[in-house]
Amino acid sequence: MGVDSVAVLTRWLTDPGSRGFDLNRLVVLTSMTGDEHAATGQLMTTHVLPLLRAHQVRDVQLSRAGQSTTAGYAVLDDSVTPMVMKMRGPWRLSDELRATATVPQVAHGRRLCSIRAKGEPLDAWIRDNIGPGYTHVLGFSADEQRRIDRDTNYTRNARRPYHPLAAWGWDRARARWTSPRHLQVRWQRSCCTYCPFALSNPTELADRWRHEPAAGAEALALEHTALACNPRSALFGRTSAHQFTAAHGLTTVLRHAANRRANAAWNLLEIRRVYTARTGTPERKGTAWRSVRRLATGDHAALRAELDHRAAAAGTAVAVDDLGIPRVWLQRAAPPYPAVEHLLALTTIGPLDKARPGFDRLWHSLTDQQQLALF
Ligand code: SF4
Repeated sequence: MGVDSVAVLTRWLTDPGSRGFDLNRLVVLTSMTGDEHAATGQLMTTHVLPLLRAHQVRDVQLSRAGQSTTAGYAVLDDSVTPMVMKMRGPWRLSDELRATATVPQVAHGRRLCSIRAKGEPLDAWIRDNIGPGYTHVLGFSADEQRRIDRDTNYTRNARRPYHPLAAWGWDRARARWTSPRHLQVRWQRSCCTYCPFALSNPTELADRWRHEPAAGAEALALEHTALACNPRSALFGRTSAHQFTAAHGLTTVLRHAANRRANAAWNLLEIRRVYTARTGTPERKGTAWRSVRRLATGDHAALRAELDHRAAAAGTAVAVDDLGIPRVWLQRAAPPYPAVEHLLALTTIGPLDKARPGFDRLWHSLTDQQQLALF
């Protein structure tokens, strides 16, 4: 549904000399995150599906079927006459982010959210429905050589990766120019409403949140939970979604977000982390292990009083940050590592109680050592 993929598709559908294969050998696959902007579904339904119908091209719309790694995929539509883009399946990426109190993350240059929401369902459907040795076409533009190189090395199931935009020498600007030319409409970026990479075009992002304030409010709600549990998890890295919204004067988004918080049930959470040491360097953090536990649920005033009470019992005070998020720091992590971090926080949505296997053993071994040292 993105600018680049739609540019490839519209060229192939409208310019037979550009492809060198019959359209009955083409399958168009889409995997839904469940959290795309509504406008993207409308653009696809209005401008692309009629072309697919006219050429009887098989269109398969998928979603992840559930949260577990074995959940597989759900087929939302599979037709040569697709009528509507089904933008949401039984699972949404935001369900996962809520349950884990995180925002989308990049690890080692890979977008973990995209792998979960798109890569895994697509790979599973291809494995079940297409034999080995197929050509896998991706809309990476000529200026995305790193993504192309990484994708070229991925050859599972005798997959033959092909990147037509790079073969044609089309960069993002050329791809952006193509879809409007064929479809007579300005194509917008396809992404989740809270995608951190959308900040690469802040004006477009602000416009979209202005037109879909509930989408912006959802981004603020996800970020609020993530920040309550971890002050280092602003949606855009150095800038938070709250700061972005205020800086762009998106008052309707802020009002939506405030209403959501006012009407929500709140949770009092206990968050514990263990930071391991980076190999051979106890002065530097390694990986983080985390445990989240829900201590109470209720309205905001009651839980805020409970937070004050617990702070006083621990001989400290509630710390409220500049976004108004209250936390009680029972212990902050500091070198040398391994080190522990312990806090209490209030959140509206999620997350689920969760700890990595072996967490308690590791936590107690470190905190017992601290107690012994004190003694
Ligand atoms: S659009 Fe952004 S947030 Fe959504 S899956 Fe892709 S990278 Fe992640």
